[in-house]
Amino acid sequence: MTSPYDALYRQSVEQPEAFWAEQARLIDWHQAPTQILDASRPPFCRWFVGGQTNLCHNAVDRHLAERGEQPALIAISTETGSERSYTFRELHAEVQRTAAMLLELGVRRGDRVLIYMPMIAEAAFAMLACARIGAIHCVVFGGFASGSLASRIEDAEPKVVVSADAGSRGGKVVPYKPLLDEAIRLSAHKPAAVLLYDRGLAAMELMAGRDHLAGAEGQKHAQARVPCTWLDATDISYTIYTSGTTGRPKGVQRDVGGYAVALAASMQHIFDGRAGETYFSTSDIGWVVGHSYIVYGPLIAGMATIMYEGLPTQGLDRQPDGGIWWRLVEKYKVTVMFSAPTAVRVLKKQDPALLRKYDLSSLRALFLAGEPLDEPTARWISEGLGVPIIDNYWQTESGWPIITLPVGVERRPAKFGSPGIAMYGYKVKIVHESTGEELTAPNEKGVVVIEGPTPPGFMQTVWRDDQRFVDTYWKSIPGQLVYSTFDWGIRDEDGYYYILGRTDDVINVAGHRLGTREIEEAISGHANVAEVAVVGVADALKGQVAMAFVVPRTGNAATDNADAMKLEGEIMKRVADDLGALARPARVRFVPGLPKTRSGKLLRRAIQAVCEQRDPGDLTTLDDPATLQAVRAAVAAG
Ligand code: AMP
Repeated sequence: MTSPYDALYRQSVEQPEAFWAEQARLIDWHQAPTQILDASRPPFCRWFVGGQTNLCHNAVDRHLAERGEQPALIAISTETGSERSYTFRELHAEVQRTAAMLLELGVRRGDRVLIYMPMIAEAAFAMLACARIGAIHCVVFGGFASGSLASRIEDAEPKVVVSADAGSRGGKVVPYKPLLDEAIRLSAHKPAAVLLYDRGLAAMELMAGRDHLAGAEGQKHAQARVPCTWLDATDISYTIYTSGTTGRPKGVQRDVGGYAVALAASMQHIFDGRAGETYFSTSDIGWVVGHSYIVYGPLIAGMATIMYEGLPTQGLDRQPDGGIWWRLVEKYKVTVMFSAPTAVRVLKKQDPALLRKYDLSSLRALFLAGEPLDEPTARWISEGLGVPIIDNYWQTESGWPIITLPVGVERRPAKFGSPGIAMYGYKVKIVHESTGEELTAPNEKGVVVIEGPTPPGFMQTVWRDDQRFVDTYWKSIPGQLVYSTFDWGIRDEDGYYYILGRTDDVINVAGHRLGTREIEEAISGHANVAEVAVVGVADALKGQVAMAFVVPRTGNAATDNADAMKLEGEIMKRVADDLGALARPARVRFVPGLPKTRSGKLLRRAIQAVCEQRDPGDLTTLDDPATLQAVRAAVAAG
């Protein structure tokens, strides 16, 4: 017998237009689409052609009549000890005020606005304000430093940057303004204006003519009425940068209508989130999860969304509290929660009694994503919470889950180690990496690919670089125009997928995606670095950490401990200053040479295997065995 989800899935891939036309009814349209899908220029897809809508209207305005006085955004900071709830009506006012400020600074439809903000409500106001007036937002994670920020400013060419005096992590204030000033100095493109929120955490030096304080500007526009601009469904809503194999980050570009429909559908079929309830995602607006499931998804569904700034182990009184998230679940009657395995591994070190201290009966499921979910972590949290733990696999590029369990449609048993089955709209396949042949037998390892047309919400292209989109994602499997996820995987006899790590040089630190090339570029800028290789190494808490192997230009770093410590410190600081603390390697090890093939290609995988005490595999292409021996010795030396 066909299950409800099997029927839904089949229709989504066999009759995508009929399926998505139905899903499109979940949102408000100013003008209904005339064509559901235009796939005439593969691999590009244009969804809901002719339709006009607006993400902000769907997230905010359309709820006013029915739930204007219900909570929409609950901003909590255990860093500053603040907690504030905005109703849909208050959110509507705040967003219009922010939109008015952007308009006054000259922002128009299609202009870019770069948002470099901590996890405060104003960051969401800024995103929604952009969506409202048809500006393209480009949110850059607040943990990134000047170098990362500069390359994004240069690529996005924002008219305005929205930022704040500082973020805070674990009680430590991180001033943003100096990082932003330095990034603008480094960038060839200079934004016309910078709008700054002053949280009173760090002093700011304002640049006359360019920098504007949101407090003063906002007062002028307190009663502003800014209507939603009706946008074409195929217009650009935002870009978000992500790492790949080259040092240059890619601007993943998304549309308006397809994204709104995809999120609305996922809130129903995947997350089972209902209007009037509360959604709590512990991610950050700097990541795709923050876009889809802190800001847009829950609000489109008419849910209140919690924005959380702080560690999972500190309370609102800024004292240690490993139960703060559960306290919030109880207080706000959270029904759907979304986090990452890393966060759960941090919580696992806390007293398990904390989980039983609160009334968590409102919670229906906990979704985890961003990195592989290991069995001990899954079991621990599943036993502790007593609700289904749903792993979900997706990427910045997809915008919403590719593989998970469709909790809103039917209950399927979870299998440890597997995020689940293919979601509707996704034709997921496993193919042989070099022949491109589809591997249909169960449990054969290959590359996880998606056959077009890609569903609504999926990236439209790489910002201003269609060729890069095609070449990077659609040309890596020989002889086939399929989208590569760059993940290894297998599918078992029941259709459950298992994700087995990246096929490229991307690493995943605490659920955050980093390109080893970017870290290598930051390190090789140090005057005393001749060569460098960065690899991702398994870590019990963070999933992976970056490990750097450096060939020093001069001095005795390879043998002299004091030299090595000094250089290691300098290199770590360089990476933190350039990319952010997240990218800082766990260790820098010094070697006289790096293992390479005869043609000069770095054997990162062999280095990684040595670090993880695994067999480095086939070494027939290794040019000089002494180099790998030196890596072994450096690792053994600790
Ligand atoms: P990002 O674009 O930062 O979300 O990173 C996407 C990558 O993270 C994927 O290509 C996978 O390598 C990894 N990833 C995300 N979710 C999962 C998951 N549930 N299980 C295993 N790997 C995951």
